Amino acid sequence: MIGVALLGATGSIGASTLAVLRQHRDKFRLVAVASRADWQGLLPIITEFEPDICALEDADAATSLRGALSRHHTHIRIETGSDAVTAVAGLSAAQVVVAGISGFAGLPSTWAAVAAGKQVLLANKEALVASGTLLLAEARRAGARLLPIDSEHNAVYQCANGVNCNASRVRAITLTASGGPFRNRPLDTFHAITPDEACKHPTWSMGRKISVDSATLMNKGLEVIEAALLFNRPASDIHVLIHPTSTVHAMVEYVDGSILAHLGPADMQVPISHALAEAASALGETLERLPLNLPSLSLAALGGLQFFDVDMQRFPALQLAYDALNAGQGACLALNAANEVAVAAFLSGAARYTDIVPTVEKILTSADASAPTSMDDVFARDADVRRAARALLPERELA
Ligand code: MG
Repeated sequence: MIGVALLGATGSIGASTLAVLRQHRDKFRLVAVASRADWQGLLPIITEFEPDICALEDADAATSLRGALSRHHTHIRIETGSDAVTAVAGLSAAQVVVAGISGFAGLPSTWAAVAAGKQVLLANKEALVASGTLLLAEARRAGARLLPIDSEHNAVYQCANGVNCNASRVRAITLTASGGPFRNRPLDTFHAITPDEACKHPTWSMGRKISVDSATLMNKGLEVIEAALLFNRPASDIHVLIHPTSTVHAMVEYVDGSILAHLGPADMQVPISHALAEAASALGETLERLPLNLPSLSLAALGGLQFFDVDMQRFPALQLAYDALNAGQGACLALNAANEVAVAAFLSGAARYTDIVPTVEKILTSADASAPTSMDDVFARDADVRRAARALLPERELA
């Protein structure tokens, strides 16, 4: 039985992971769960999966959870504080850690899982974008393995049969993007876009931050950086195509001209189950594939596959990400931090949709592009960029 720790258990990655684990209780056991403050979301997970440990960053939420669980016969240990979430990532009973906490906030726990030498199912792209090769070097040092469960990167991993995309075998990597909800919206109405409109993704059901990033295509930009790091290729070898139905998730072009594409249902259970099987194999269980109870994709019903080049006028965030990747790791860190601040301001009503990209762009003009030299440096620079980005955002009263 393989022990799994699930960080961000009540989010979208958490729900998909639990759906996979529910179908494979004979192979995997959920030993720990972590969430920032969503104790109501944790309650049914704890009663169903009976993990040994639960970490809640928020102390009041932990008190509420203890109260709610007092009626249940459970021996679960409930720990609080951000250190508790980090501790769960290094738990000896967990051979596999699912890093499903969204944003830079997931970096400390992702780092802890990597430093503890775990099989790390990486959903948190911001951690990798901000810390870059530091995280990869730590994984090598600790014997950890980063298994991408971002659907596009998992697709590349499957097409390349691992992370080896060396130029001697692979010519280019293509990530697809649905184009989000605003692929055809008139540009002169973008200033009026509301958070709910931005979060209505046409093909994937996800959390609100990543949904906004998918609308601007910043998500694809972060994914280009993520791919450059995971598969060790320069920006110029990582391409993006708009593909509205999200049927093909990524393609790998080999040096002989062969292109292998990954197709599948737009459901995060697919990459998560693949990565869990990979992790299990590394841990000595021979698992080729985990069957999933999902409807088969019907290509005949789909009728065809459409691909378009990205219109960079409509989606300037993608260009910013390429620019940051070419400039250096420090610029990637700054891009991510400024974007998180601007997106949070948009979601809270403090900024417009059309404030997001200009804020990131302004930050990038003065960002230190050199690579951070330590994790302390990563956290310090991230905090500096956040302060600068907040100062740039207009104090706007929005109706
Ligand atoms: Mg993705």
